[in-house]
Amino acid sequence: MSEPPDLGTPLVRYPWVVVRLRCHVCPRHAEVRLAALAARYGHRVPISMVLHSFMVACPWNPHTELRKLQKYSMRCGAYIPDLNSGRPPDLPPSMTGLTLIEGGKDDMLPAERAPLERRRRIGGEDE
Ligand SMILES: [Zn+2]
Repeated sequence: MSEPPDLGTPLVRYPWVVVRLRCHVCPRHAEVRLAALAARYGHRVPISMVLHSFMVACPWNPHTELRKLQKYSMRCGAYIPDLNSGRPPDLPPSMTGLTLIEGGKDDMLPAERAPLERRRRIGGEDE
């Protein structure tokens, strides 16, 4: 697995099919297909560009002239939850297809306890 994406990751290197956008302060959210973003902005723009354009439409957009004057007013809390994470976003199965989960079987709890290895002999006082 390559480096997890961050805000500087260009679209072309973003590892997932869909870019998810969320906001801490407003109910807006979006799931945008990476291919659609690349077609619109070009595949070399950083992912922060997508976040910025999402913020622009927010009622708490910090990038408008009005907001600049109100330094301590509420700002849009838009973020991309999948940045700096090695985990792919949760997507409906129709979008991801079947995924092989690495080490999935070993991570599961065993159904039964493995039998303890018996080192002591029964009635082993004669050692
Ligand atoms: Zn917002």
